[in-house]
Amino acid sequence: MRPRLKSLNTLTTDGTVVIYRRPTERIHLDDPGGGVRALVELLAQGAHEEADLPAELTRLGHPTTAEDVRDAIAALDDLRLLENADADPDAETLRRHESNLRFYDLYADLGRSSGDLHHRLAHSTVLVIGAGGLGGGVLQSLLGLGVARVRIVDFDTVEPKNLARQFVYGAGEIGRSKVAAAAAWARRYAPQTVVEAVEQEVTDAATIRALGADVDLVVLAADQPVGIQLMTNEACFDLGVPFIAGGFKLSTLFYWSVEPGHTPCRLCLELHRDDDLRGRDEWVRSGLRLEADPVNRTTGPVAQLLSGLIALEAQRYLARTEEPVAGGTYQTIEIGDRMRVDATGWERHPDCALCHRSADGGR
Ligand SMILES: [Zn+2]
Repeated sequence: MRPRLKSLNTLTTDGTVVIYRRPTERIHLDDPGGGVRALVELLAQGAHEEADLPAELTRLGHPTTAEDVRDAIAALDDLRLLENADADPDAETLRRHESNLRFYDLYADLGRSSGDLHHRLAHSTVLVIGAGGLGGGVLQSLLGLGVARVRIVDFDTVEPKNLARQFVYGAGEIGRSKVAAAAAWARRYAPQTVVEAVEQEVTDAATIRALGADVDLVVLAADQPVGIQLMTNEACFDLGVPFIAGGFKLSTLFYWSVEPGHTPCRLCLELHRDDDLRGRDEWVRSGLRLEADPVNRTTGPVAQLLSGLIALEAQRYLARTEEPVAGGTYQTIEIGDRMRVDATGWERHPDCALCHRSADGGR
């Protein structure tokens, strides 16, 4: 194995090596004899086998044992400063996905390379329900990330009002089927990703089950028909795949996700809400739904922000860079209140038939 220092800013001064992990987070390594600097410079090249490093350091005037090098490399790896140069992907992938791979650097270590994380995404299939501002934006990010296949479902046609925020469509596509137009855009932008356009109205869980039979993740980017969140929830339990949903209500941007067997689910939330509202008037019950706003106030900037946040959560599920942040948790941004960020989790409900069914695998 050829351990390599990641592309991080490194400063060396007399007696100290400073490595920046974040713009505001530095690691100071004591280096009275200059041996750490010599090791860091060798590791930055990423050209040497670990077994050859003691001899190289000794040749440079820093007598070092194999054990010293092993300990130093383990310590640097614990700080997530190293990656395995032998695990680099092929040259074409390096060219096309350079920034994606550098992003994965943040999560890579000697045991898990950036290439491994990209590989997981590049072999993933995602079902996107809805080809509006949110679905179109998520599609764009998924293509940029290089997923293998996206199935996008909608039954709408492009309307003039969509051009405020649905950037996969152009003025020349008014009246055209959204999914056909989105797939045409995708073929021009990223022909290596297979985009399947399905012109269909999603009206029940069985439809979602059929559409998602071979997928790794579902993105729910539609707010119609009423109840589509619960339908998607049920279908995803049957499929055993996670899903992510989001929207914009009044001035609140929100997104959340469900991983069957691991997080509380959307039905749990519904049951908690029924408990909270028991005894209140029916009109109050029906009026309080955590669905997107029936009046669409989603501007381009809001749609892009929300699409990006959902695509990041998708990346967490697909590549497992880190634990998803919105599992059983409402992530919210109050656009109308100086971008206040909040995260509110919900609990499993004891009467949830779906979570009960998968309780063996749950927590
Ligand atoms: Zn549940």
